[in-house]
Amino acid sequence: MSRVAVYQCLDCSKVRRIVQPELGIEKQNGLRQYSDIHRCSDGVLAVNNIQIDTNLVVRAIEKQELEAQIQTSRLNIPLPKTNNVFHNNIVISHLKEKNDFRAIFKNEWTGSTFNVGNVRTNEEAIAEFSSIASGISVGYYECTTELDKSLTDWLKVLINLIELIPPKEAGYFMEALHFIFDMRHVPPCVYDIHIIQLILSADDAYLELSENTVDAIPKDEELSEEHYYIIDLILKHINEASSLLEISKIIPDDFVYTIFLIMILEKYDIIKINKPEMIDEINDNFIDILID
Ligand SMILES: [Zn+2]
Repeated sequence: MSRVAVYQCLDCSKVRRIVQPELGIEKQNGLRQYSDIHRCSDGVLAVNNIQIDTNLVVRAIEKQELEAQIQTSRLNIPLPKTNNVFHNNIVISHLKEKNDFRAIFKNEWTGSTFNVGNVRTNEEAIAEFSSIASGISVGYYECTTELDKSLTDWLKVLINLIELIPPKEAGYFMEALHFIFDMRHVPPCVYDIHIIQLILSADDAYLELSENTVDAIPKDEELSEEHYYIIDLILKHINEASSLLEISKIIPDDFVYTIFLIMILEKYDIIKINKPEMIDEINDNFIDILID
């Protein structure tokens, strides 16, 4: 008999089946806390920490939120101590599978943390690094995913980007984390940084139609019919949808996939993306600074 816990998300009303409740963290109250990561009502990954008892009955559901940060900073300006990237200490039991990725992201100003993989206080990090302005640090812990040069570069890029563009919700942070986890075998490039920027600022990035039509996309982009179908949907909705986040609600597919198509539209000047507080010019030199 398979052991499955079932609950309903309070936001999107999706019925979620937890097929591996044993991945959860054992709590002192005898319940097991399992981090259910799913695409919620806005199309972005949401983290629900649910507590399950030994009979697989769900006893509590808590959606993880990051609090909005008031101010952002450019790379060379230290962040004021009042800034608060992570509003509280968040623990999620696992990223994708048990022990595939274990890290603690820390806001050095407030001491608040985002703990992925239930890292315990007595564990020692394999490696630690900080963002250039020292606001965000990450410690990497024993797990089945090797911390090679490429993953190290990705983590450095990520902590610097979340310092520049503090995520307003845990979902954006999780999207970015999933993205780097999937991409970790190839070192980050400028294009990837643009994608992460858009993930982190999805509700602040505004789209508008530009002068070109979809005919401006050259054949060698090799987009499929499905791509064009989704591109049509995106273009149709741009007038009424104000932000990238709202566009992603229209497109039922993967959030990062939508961003990828939006970037193609931007590349051929079919749309414009108005991004706030972004680094004006990102080039290879910038990446070198980040991963130095
Ligand atoms: Zn949901």
